Amino acid sequence: MIFDSHCHIQFKGFDEEREDVLKICAEKNIWLHAIGTQKDTSKKAVELAESHDNIFASIGIHPIHLFPTYVDEEESSFVSREESFDEEYFDELAKSPKVIAVGECGFELYHVPKDKTVEEVLAKQKEIFLAQYHFAQKHNLPLVIHVRDAHDQLIEVLKELPKPIRGVIHCFSGDWSVASKYLDFGLNLGFTGIITFPIKKTAPQIQEDLWEVVQKVPNDRFIVETDAPYLAPQKYRGKRCEPWMVEEVADKVAELKGLSIDEVKKLALENSLRVFDRMKII
Ligand SMILES: [Zn+2]
Ligand SMILES: [Zn+2]
Repeated sequence: MIFDSHCHIQFKGFDEEREDVLKICAEKNIWLHAIGTQKDTSKKAVELAESHDNIFASIGIHPIHLFPTYVDEEESSFVSREESFDEEYFDELAKSPKVIAVGECGFELYHVPKDKTVEEVLAKQKEIFLAQYHFAQKHNLPLVIHVRDAHDQLIEVLKELPKPIRGVIHCFSGDWSVASKYLDFGLNLGFTGIITFPIKKTAPQIQEDLWEVVQKVPNDRFIVETDAPYLAPQKYRGKRCEPWMVEEVADKVAELKGLSIDEVKKLALENSLRVFDRMKII
C-alpha cells in the first residue's frame, strides 16, 4: 500500500476518467490525499473523500489564487481566480472527519502578476498563510505547505512561529541547507516525480542537490506524493500525472537511499500516518 500524500484528483481535468483512475488506484492499493487549492476545489476534495474510503482531503487556498494570475503549466494554462481566506466556509468543511490537513498554502514567487510588485504579493501571501496557520491550530490539523522560488521568504515567516511546526513542505525542491532548516522546524519533506527526472545538462547541480536531500533526510521525516495532474514521473513524462504513479517516486527514494522498495513504502506510510494523525486506515 502507498499513500499519495498530495494530488488533485478532484480537479476538473479528471472529471471524464476519475472513476477509471480511482479503479487503478484501488487495484494497486494506492490511497489518496486530495489537496484543495481554492474554496471550490477544497469542497470537492471533501466530497470525494466522504464518498471513497481510500481518499482523504486537505482544505485551503494556494498562493497563486490570491491574485488573478496567468498560469502556464505543462498540462494546462489558465487565469487563476482571486480569492481570500473565508474562515467560516472552511470551518464548515473542517467538520468532515475525512479532512486531515490544511493547505495547500504558502509562498509562490514563480507566478507573479504583472501589475503587482513582489512586496505586494508577499504581503498578501504572508497574511493568508498566517490565517491558514491559525486556522490549522484551531482545528488541530497539520499544514500542507507549497513553496516555489520563495524558500527565504517562507523560512523568515516560519522562524517566528512556535516549534515544532506540524506538517509537510510538499514537492520539496532545494538543497540540503534549505531542507535542514525545515526539518529543524519540525516539518517533513514531500517528494514528487521531480526526483525521477534526469540531470539537466545546463544545470546539473539542481538535481544533484535534490538527490542529496533524499539521501540525507532521516527515514522518519519524508513522505511521497505525485501532485497529479502535474509532474508525471520520468517514465510517464508528457502524460498527465495520475496518483498511482507515486510508485515511481517510492522506487527512486529506495534507489537513492539504498533501501528496498517495500521498506520505503512502509516508511512513507508510517510517516504519513504520523504527520496526518487524523487519518484512519481501515
Ligand atoms: Zn503545490
Ligand atoms: Zn498541489
